[in-house]
Amino acid sequence: MNIHEYQAKELLGRYGVKVPRGKIAFTPQEAEEIAKEFLTGDSVCVVKAQIHAGGRGKAGGVKLVKTREEAREYAKALLGKTLVTHQTGPKGKEVKKVLVEEGCRILKEYYLGVVVDRGRQKVCVIVSSEGGVEIEEVAAKSPEKILREYVDPAVGLQPYQARKLAFGIGLDKTLLGKAVKLMTGLYNAFVGLDCSMAEINPLVTTNVTAKDGEVLALDAKISFDDNGLFRHKDVLGMRDLDEEDAKEVEASRHNLNYVALDGNIGCMVNGAGLAMATMDIIKLYGGKPANFLDVGGGATREQVTAAFKILMSDENVKAVLVNIFGGIMRCDVIADGIIEAAKDVGMNAPLVVRLQGTNVEKGRDILRQSGLNIIAAEKMDEAAEKVVRAAKA
Ligand code: GDP
Ligand code: MN
Repeated sequence: MNIHEYQAKELLGRYGVKVPRGKIAFTPQEAEEIAKEFLTGDSVCVVKAQIHAGGRGKAGGVKLVKTREEAREYAKALLGKTLVTHQTGPKGKEVKKVLVEEGCRILKEYYLGVVVDRGRQKVCVIVSSEGGVEIEEVAAKSPEKILREYVDPAVGLQPYQARKLAFGIGLDKTLLGKAVKLMTGLYNAFVGLDCSMAEINPLVTTNVTAKDGEVLALDAKISFDDNGLFRHKDVLGMRDLDEEDAKEVEASRHNLNYVALDGNIGCMVNGAGLAMATMDIIKLYGGKPANFLDVGGGATREQVTAAFKILMSDENVKAVLVNIFGGIMRCDVIADGIIEAAKDVGMNAPLVVRLQGTNVEKGRDILRQSGLNIIAAEKMDEAAEKVVRAAKA
């Protein structure tokens, strides 16, 4: 699960990560009110589009403002607008709220991230002196500018490791204590909240020469491990369904393992292994799967019905392949589910069904007698070939 920048900053603040003061606005009036509160003397404010995607700065989703009227104007321009960044895809994302923040005078931008290194089975803290730009780009062009520390889970991030990273990116020594505190806070948040990724890009320094120099998280992006969410009810409360794929939301309501993809062949399969093999064979025959869907080993008729409806109502889907190997799952349950769903939503695309295993004859009988226009297949390659042909027709 992902959350918005303003929510990530709220969570990180609880762990001692220094973030700018800011509030969320849903209307231009609210943005103006917040700006009024933060604008004093010659200070500035920042109005930032809140969507689940980065690259907002380049796409015009982040703006410095000097007056509250400007804050209102810019909020007005952003709210309701579809922002297209290099991370949203061509369709973009609609801006429904903006973060109005106290601005700061940036001395230099850095990168700070925490991820799980699966190979080493450890949490890895990553820093770079090249902040505010795509870290992937830095990794490709100047990998020597990326520094890493691997954390021993038994003791957590050690102060010496944080100092090493801070020195490595050339932070002024007067800011060392603040940088160590921030990195430690980010690491503790990562572990404490069961994150899969936490990224601060840019991490910035302000006014090093003066005593009030700060190390601040100017942006924040957090992804959570869904399997840990049950123990973080407050995080779960931050879920924004508007930002998620509608089909994935519907699937999660029925406990289906569904991932939307950009092809045109809908797949309904039981078991993750068989689901992956099915996607492979579709590709082998020149097709492209519209989704990954594992209905599970012991899916109920209701789940099968819900899954089938999600596939058939997907406008990208030109043909559907049901590939079931009945073990615990019974083929007649699948057949019943398909018929139930077809009655409800109709058959908007040709359907290829391959059933094998427990109660296979019963399942095939049910489908035959249903009068539905189903293309039957016995073998996997046969099924793949038929569904690819149907999708192209
Ligand atoms: P992203 O483009 O979606 O990653 O959005 P960011 O939150 O990273 O903002 C993009 C850029 O806006 C940053 O790299 C900064 O250069 C700039 N920015 C954001 N907040 C402030 C601020 O308070 N003051 C100044 N001067 N620039 C800011
Ligand atoms: Mn950023």
